[in-house]
Amino acid sequence: MSKVITLLGSTGSIGTQSLDVCRMHGYEVFGLSANSSVDKLLAQIAEFHPKYVAVTDPAAFDRLSAALAGQTGAPKLLKGADGLRELAAMDGAGTVLNAVVGIAGLDASLTAIESGHDLALANKESLVTGGHLVTDAVKKHGVHLLPVDSEHSAIFQCLQDQHSAKTLEKILLTASGGPFFGMSTEELRTKTKADALKHPNWNMGAKITIDSATLMNKGLELIEAAWLFGLPEDKIQIVVQRESIIHSAVQFADHSIIAQLGVPDMRIPIQYALTYPRRFPSPVKQLNLADWQKLTFYAPDEETFTCFGACKRAIRRGGTLPAAVNGANEAAVALFLKEKIGWQDIGELVCHVADTFETAPVTSVEDVLEADRKARAYVLERFLLDREEEEEGIIPLAQKS
Ligand code: NDP
Ligand code: MG
Repeated sequence: MSKVITLLGSTGSIGTQSLDVCRMHGYEVFGLSANSSVDKLLAQIAEFHPKYVAVTDPAAFDRLSAALAGQTGAPKLLKGADGLRELAAMDGAGTVLNAVVGIAGLDASLTAIESGHDLALANKESLVTGGHLVTDAVKKHGVHLLPVDSEHSAIFQCLQDQHSAKTLEKILLTASGGPFFGMSTEELRTKTKADALKHPNWNMGAKITIDSATLMNKGLELIEAAWLFGLPEDKIQIVVQRESIIHSAVQFADHSIIAQLGVPDMRIPIQYALTYPRRFPSPVKQLNLADWQKLTFYAPDEETFTCFGACKRAIRRGGTLPAAVNGANEAAVALFLKEKIGWQDIGELVCHVADTFETAPVTSVEDVLEADRKARAYVLERFLLDREEEEEGIIPLAQKS
């Protein structure tokens, strides 16, 4: 099966695993993109010979231009967010795989769809923030939206029998529970960046790894599933499946449950998104259920992991609120990764936005970006205010200059 793809976010965890799939099946890579990882891009260019490469960070763009200067057969370089959009729109690739992290991927998703490309979507934030815009554009342009997120790929695979799919009653979206599963609020108070970055089953980029520790990832995935499969939030049940062997399941009208299983390896859902509706051999290890002896299931602890409930409340109220909650989380995780705020602050900031921000209908990308901007501004402001308040407790007012 020959295939030409454009891969956005090629230097990340999903990006590099996607290139593994391309390497194995001999797929042609038309375009690549990254934010600033110039060395990784240079290695990918030497191996895959893309025609176009987009680099969003201007200084990294200059470094890549200098490194490629005078090379014959070097790709044409595109710069900034405009360059990323230009690449997503280009004819030349049948499928655009969007593996950019964060809301930075929304514009590229919409552009790819509006340009008539099938979209293999790892960037869940596109659906969380702009679900309405993305699903409307998919319908309007008659393209395929193919989930790469493992749980959503699992659900999608379970729904391939069209007769059964019409009687879909409920989704069982599985969660690993993350590195802090079973811990109390008290135990979580002292958790550091290093603790949160140790995921038990998956090796992923830093942002989604932190989201897995807070259960924000499952909240984002609930919103993603609601948009992809057209079910309300109360028809999507989260089930902790500690071993990450059952990637999700669906329940039909007769209460039959169909699940998709496999070893935890993202190359299975990536490959299925690229080869849909066909299946091909994969380098991924076979799952031997007898090796496992038992699989364990639990309900999620929504009281301790408050980000999850915040996402539920956001999708229930709808409109721009999920974008605001996502924006607050992106800003909070960035601060946590810089070790400027604590683990508990992430949940507090996200819940505040979910519970106090107003919501408005989403009519354009600008509505989404405005909600995102306001939430980020709140996180930054709140962080600075807290620091002042903290100082007040420590330094008596009279001693302040
Ligand atoms: P990574 O952080 O590993 O990679 C992100 C990619 O996006 C990199 O290529 C990065 O470039 C690029 N990028 C970062 N910031 C920007 C920006 N502002 N504009 C354009 N490009 C940017 O993330 P993951 O691969 O872990 O995740 C990618 C997406 O897939 C996320 O939405 C995540 O939720 C989703 N996902 C990930 C899974 C996983 O197993 N990792 C599983 C399921 C879903 P650079 O290297 O230069 O920074
Ligand atoms: Mg997932």
